[in-house]
Amino acid sequence: MKPRILITEDEVSLVALLRYNLEKEGYVVDEASDGQECLVKVAEEQPDLILLDWMLPQLSGLEVCRQLRRNPETRNIPVIMVTARGEESDRVRGLDVGADDYIAKPFSPGELLARIRAVLRRIRPALSEEMLTCGDVVMDLGAHKVSRGGRAIHLGPTEYRLLRYFLEHQGRVLSRDQLLDSVWGRDIFVEQRTVDVHIRRLRKALNGDNDLDMIRTVRSAGYSIEPPVVEAVR
Ligand code: CA
Repeated sequence: MKPRILITEDEVSLVALLRYNLEKEGYVVDEASDGQECLVKVAEEQPDLILLDWMLPQLSGLEVCRQLRRNPETRNIPVIMVTARGEESDRVRGLDVGADDYIAKPFSPGELLARIRAVLRRIRPALSEEMLTCGDVVMDLGAHKVSRGGRAIHLGPTEYRLLRYFLEHQGRVLSRDQLLDSVWGRDIFVEQRTVDVHIRRLRKALNGDNDLDMIRTVRSAGYSIEPPVVEAVR
């Protein structure tokens, strides 16, 4: 699954240029043309990174960033501030409100792509690696193989995509809706309980007799994956 980037920018020609360059690199691109729309799109699309222009109509990029950081659901989404203002004091203000990086216009697409890769590597190493792990579960993306504690795990295509999405978002509680959108795709109508069916299959495949369950059911919220905590043997 390719990282999803939300471009928030009111300059139409720049949006087109950014979209072209990001899609060429394989990113999935969404766009918002003002701060308010950005906040709505973030809630809808759950982007992996936000490119946020400082000078936006109505709500400034700075204020949008502040609001994203205040909300526990969006607090950890990486933000790169984009601005025409290149002064050091602006850079500091941008980073102060919680932006992860800052790039001044004009910039080359190459420079921006390098920064995006760096931020994603730092914040979500899972998105740029070929090997995803959680505890003793290893997913080899190149070979399309999964193992747990050295034992090969055979998964159906949906369980494989589900596990991959979990591993790319470790520690985060993922709602059934979010899983449906990201694993099944938003154009397909699937009932929420379908998610539960596939989670059950995934658990069954992953958990051997002596394995602890890594998939946590969070009541009325969804599911998350995290390495099991092994309690001390008394
Ligand atoms: Ca602008």
